[in-house]
Order: sequence, then structure tokens, then C-alpha cells
Amino acid sequence: METKKMNDVIVIGAGIAGTFVARELARYELDILVIDQESDVANATTMANSAIVHAGYDAKPGSQKSFFNIQGNPMFDQVCEELDVPFKRIGSLVIGFDEEDRQTIDKMYEAGLKNHIPEMSVIETDQIKELEPNISDKVRVALYAKTAGIVSPFELAIALAENGIENGVKYQLETKVIGIEKQNGYYEVHTSRGDYQARTIVNCAGVYADQISQMVGDTSYSIHPRKGEYYLLDKKAGKLFNHVIFQTPTDHGKGVLITPTVHGNVLVGPDSNFVGEKDDVSTEAMSLQEIRNIASKSSDKIPFNQVIRTFAGLRASSDMGDFVIGESKVAKGFIHVGGFESPGLSAAPAVAKYVVEIIKDISGGLREKVTFNPRRRPVVRFAELNLEEKQKCVEEDPNYGNIICRCEQVTEAEIIDCIHRDMGATTVKGVKKRTRPGMGRCQGGFCEPKVVEILARELNRPIEEVSYNGSKAYIVTEETKKQI
Ligand SMILES: Cc1cc2nc3c(=O)[nH]c(=O)nc-3n(C[C@H](O)[C@H](O)[C@H](O)COP(=O)(O)OP(=O)(O)OC[C@H]3O[C@@H](n4cnc5c(N)ncnc54)[C@H](O)[C@@H]3O)c2cc1C
Repeated sequence: METKKMNDVIVIGAGIAGTFVARELARYELDILVIDQESDVANATTMANSAIVHAGYDAKPGSQKSFFNIQGNPMFDQVCEELDVPFKRIGSLVIGFDEEDRQTIDKMYEAGLKNHIPEMSVIETDQIKELEPNISDKVRVALYAKTAGIVSPFELAIALAENGIENGVKYQLETKVIGIEKQNGYYEVHTSRGDYQARTIVNCAGVYADQISQMVGDTSYSIHPRKGEYYLLDKKAGKLFNHVIFQTPTDHGKGVLITPTVHGNVLVGPDSNFVGEKDDVSTEAMSLQEIRNIASKSSDKIPFNQVIRTFAGLRASSDMGDFVIGESKVAKGFIHVGGFESPGLSAAPAVAKYVVEIIKDISGGLREKVTFNPRRRPVVRFAELNLEEKQKCVEEDPNYGNIICRCEQVTEAEIIDCIHRDMGATTVKGVKKRTRPGMGRCQGGFCEPKVVEILARELNRPIEEVSYNGSKAYIVTEETKKQI
């Protein structure tokens, strides 16, 4: 009879939470398996959010959100440097238009001081205009937080997964967890692709984390997805704004923001609406119009005629009003990373370290892995190189001379490399997330067929078996204009 391999830890979910936790655990002598139902890491909420590393002044003092955001923010410089992921500390502004906003901003500043947030100041119109020449003339006051940053959340998750694999972590994708049974001293995890065993489970299942918890009899929280929609603007608009620009928050949250992205686009959004379905990432004309109206108050110079895409993400809002992080009270060895809505991205590196501490406690200590390598092989971003560097690349590999995506200037060599890395791309969307063909103005209109061909060739698959995003999204079904 076949004996199943016992894992020390199974992480359910390969978004930013799961990939961070797994990479942090890889520092120790542990067998770690990450399971995700999607065809790639970072295909859910980690793919669709504002991408801001928040300074940490605004979460309720004493909450888990506040604690982990404040701890997590300073960790981004090192991890993004180690993993060669774009991260920019551009700073944020919370802008106010009247006396009421000024009072809120003063309170946020005070809360920030109590939370020991460095490099914050309250600034007035002249200084605001100097920082942001295209901001509305009606802005009177702003909270300036220099430590806020922007990152590419899905590139970070991919890099964490790649580095995790290099350090021994196993990933099992396109595998849905459908049940968990408590056995004597371990868990039996039933999935769409068979059963797996683990002494400890870390639940990083995003909007589905409550359902996973229920599988071990823990009903302590439920998750109600809250959708946020966005406009993404062309890089032509990229120089209009320099900071993350929030409006003064209301009871409904941080509100609609304008921000540059690490790749030089502009993001405008999100709104905030509870939805019934955990996979409802549709966008609607009315919601988008409302976002446009609100954002136009911050600046009347947003060029909405340069929108290249709209999209939506789902916040995993829990009925606890906070993150739910810690060992389950009813299932020993089952660890929650639940209710992981904003500022989950900012908090993730600190949460991962905390989860390791819990596992150390549960298992009576962990042995460090002396071979752990925190760095991954750097990625060539051809478009960002100078002429000399480009020429050197082409001399070393002529595939750098073949531009596949004209909008984003992505070369064939970069695409080939991203397919053959650990946690390499296997789908068109996977290539898009890693090297950006399809992220530009034409949204893949010109380059997608070429990417399909490269994927088929490099993965040695028939072209009909190359999908956009996993097994349900094939692109080519059969040959047309066949010679009869
Ligand atoms: C509109 C919006 C804006 C945001 N802006 C910011 C921001 O600017 N800054 C910030 O810090 N945070 C922000 N956040 C929050 C941040 O995006 C999230 O905290 C973070 O991405 C959550 O990561 P995760 O890994 O928990 O979830 P996810 O990325 O959703 O990953 C969960 C994974 O679990 C898998 N899974 C679920 N169920 C199963 C199952 N049964 N079997 C197998 N796999 C399963 C899914 O496939 C998925 O890949 C925002 C969120 C939203 C929605």
C-alpha cells in the first residue's frame, strides 16, 4: 500500500500571504507544501488591489491591522532587494478641502505619532502644489507620509514562490482543497487531486478562508467579500502624479485614490461594495462613473480618455472587523491568516514572521536551514536598460533582439526566461504577470498570438493546449482555413 508523505506544514492559498509564509518557513528544516486551486500564484486578490505599502498611521491602534502594517512596512526594502522586485517609496498624501477634513487629518497625524510612524507632516497648499502640481486647486491641507510605497504585489508573490522553491518549498497548483480531517496528531487534506497530510496547516485562502476554517470545525469568523473597482491609465499619463493621493477617509474606508504604479501607469479607484459571490470581479459602468466623479475632486487633470483597462478585486472583510491571525482555538496546529483585507499586502512580511513564531511554539522550536538563500536570480527588464546594456544582452542572446510586445518593449528572451524559472509561467496570463506583454496600451491585441506560440514551443505542448489562464480558458481550438 502506498504511504502518503507527511508534510510538516501545508499552506492553503498562494497569494501574497501564502507565498510570504512559505518563503519565511523555508528558512527552517521543514517539509512545506503550498496548495492553490488556481493555475498560478497570485491569481486572486493579490492580482487586483491598489498595490500600496501603507505607512501605517490609519489602522485602529491596538488592532492586528495596525500592528502588522507598522511592522511590515519597513521590511519591504530588504525583501524586494533580495528578490529583485520593483518597489518605490514614493510617499502618500491624504488631502483635505475644508476645516472638517483638517480636523480628521490632524487626528490621523496624532494617531501616526502614537504609532511611531516616522517622517510624517501636515502640509499646506503651497507645499502640496510643489509635490503635486496637478492636484486640485481646492486642496488646502494634506497629511504627508514619506514612508508609504508602491510595489507590484503579484510580481512579489511570484518572486517569493520562486525563492521558496529554490529553498525546498513544493507548490501544488490547480488543486482545490475540498475537505480536512483531523487525525491523530496530523491533518488529512482532501483535494481535487488526492489527499495530503500535514502536522500543521496555515490557512491563507483569502475570501475563502472562512470555508477552509469550517472544514476543521472552526466557525469563529465569516468573510463577506467587498469589491473594489479600478481604472488603469496608459503610461502616457504616468508622469502626472508623483505620490499616492488619498482623500480624507470616511466611515467607508480609505476611499478613492490616485497613484502611480511601479511600472509607470496610473491607477484610479477603488470603490467599496459588498457582493454576494466570492468570485464576482465584474466591473460596472455606474460604479466606474462614481469613481471617476470622486477622483476628479482630487484632480481635474486625470485623462480618462487614456484608460487602458478596468478591473476589480475582492477584499476578504471578516465580521471580526480586523485580521484574524493566530492558532485556531478549536483546532490545534491550524493557523488562521484570515480576514486579510487591506492593509494585508503591507502587513504580509510581518504576518509571515509571526506565523513562523507560532509554528516554533507549537513544535517546540525549529532548526534553521544553513543552506537558505534569500536571493533569487535577477530578472532582465529589457525596456529599463540603457542602449549599451541592451546591446550587450543582444550579443549574449539574440532573442533579446526580438521585441514581442511593442507597448511594453518585452523581448522573446525575457518571455523564454520567465517560462523556465522555478514557478515559471505556464499560461498567457502567467507570462503577462511576469514580463508584461499584454499589460500595455493594446492589452495583448498584437502580442498574444506570439506569446501563445512561444509558450507552446517552450513547454512542448500542442498550441491548442496553451490557455489564457488555466484549464478552462483555451485560446486556440482548431485550425481555420484548412486546405481540403
Ligand atoms: C480593492 C482592494 C485594494 C487593496 N489595496 C491594498 C493596498 O493598497 N495595500 C495593502 O496593503 N493591501 C491592499 N489590499 C489588500 C490586499 O490585496 C490583500 O490583503 C492581499 O492581497 C490578500 O492576500 P491573500 O494571499 O490573503 O489572498 P489571495 O491573494 O486572494 O490568495 C488566496 C488564495 O487562496 C486560494 N484558495 C482559496 N480557496 C482555496 C481552496 N479551497 N483550495 C485551494 N486554494 C484556495 C485562492 O486561489 C487564492 O490564490 C487591497 C485589497 C483589495 C481587494
